[in-house]
Amino acid sequence: MPETLTDILIRHIRDNGPISVSHFMGLALGHPQYGYYMNRDPFGRLGDFVTAPEISQLFGEMVGVWMADLWLRMGAPAPFLLAEAGPGRGTLMADILRATRKVDGFHAAMQIHLIETSPALRTLQTHALAGFTPHWHDSIDTLPDDAPILFVANEFLDALPIIQLMHGDKGWAERVIGLSDDGQLMFGLVPADPSLVAAIPDNLDPKDGQGVYEVSPARSGFTALLSERIERQGGAALFIDYGHGHHGMGDTLQAMRAHKFVGVFEDVGTADITSHVDFEAVAETAIHHGASVYGPVEQWQFLEDMGIRMRAAHLINNATDEKLADAVRDGLERLISPDQMGSLFKVLAICHDAAPMPSGFGEDITP
Ligand code: SAH
Repeated sequence: MPETLTDILIRHIRDNGPISVSHFMGLALGHPQYGYYMNRDPFGRLGDFVTAPEISQLFGEMVGVWMADLWLRMGAPAPFLLAEAGPGRGTLMADILRATRKVDGFHAAMQIHLIETSPALRTLQTHALAGFTPHWHDSIDTLPDDAPILFVANEFLDALPIIQLMHGDKGWAERVIGLSDDGQLMFGLVPADPSLVAAIPDNLDPKDGQGVYEVSPARSGFTALLSERIERQGGAALFIDYGHGHHGMGDTLQAMRAHKFVGVFEDVGTADITSHVDFEAVAETAIHHGASVYGPVEQWQFLEDMGIRMRAAHLINNATDEKLADAVRDGLERLISPDQMGSLFKVLAICHDAAPMPSGFGEDITP
């Protein structure tokens, strides 16, 4: 039998002891050879999950309008970095580029920068962005530091590793992955890092949500670097993801294969493993680094505020046949309906503290 990622993990744990949930997620998604994202196209009907830009062009168009509007009100800086983290198939960026084509000077001023670790997905992005010249990066560190940034990431933060703290009879412990008596992967507990425990908000009831509290040093690390860049270079970032607006208790670690939830230890590396984003934690980090934060608002609010219904009506009126019109209606419904993506998905903007207020977050309440 060929070696699998599960075999590699079992051997590693046998030799070195239990690993953190964060270490587990990092390997399941990013192992150079067997990591989930490293060698496949996970998206679409035939893949494992469908994301907003893959559902409808309306999504990327609204993000494009958001960026162009802010860029114009920032005084149309040239050059600027049009940056995306975790671009998947490149669909969102392609839709942003189409939506901004007629914005005077936008394309001439932009430099496209993509932060993407997967070689397979970089290839798909190259095809989706044919005619443009994107620059790829393994991490945010190598983004140029001499121009304002307009940044977007959809379903990127949910893929960054988390640590799970678990409350039991003896107080807080860290959830880890070890081996059962018969040598299979299983959850266990080890003493928790006191600095992580100290940061758990005291207004939460540790008995809620299976006693689990999640923190993501990887997410706060990314947000910190991005917020510092925005404060130094100017600009703004838009994050869209599933998650909650406030800190909360709950085990949200999930694995998905072929549009169904599966066990996280089932054939590791062949299912997408994610967790819900704590947007309050993201906002706190950004504010701590001097940036201004707007939202989170629910995805339906952001998209409606950006004019998605008007754009959909226009596409429906211009559709050459009823099937196309139905596809637009269906896409709109999936993006904004509260029982589909409308409410679970949240949108948060991180802006330079002197940048104009971004659109999409309700009325401007400043005098
Ligand atoms: N934004 C896309 C894809 C979301 S899936 C969409 O909405 O369709 C997550 C994306 O993040 C993939 O492109 C994956 O390869 C990338 N990714 C995951 N972990 C990453 C990391 N640590 N650094 C950079 N990219 C990462």
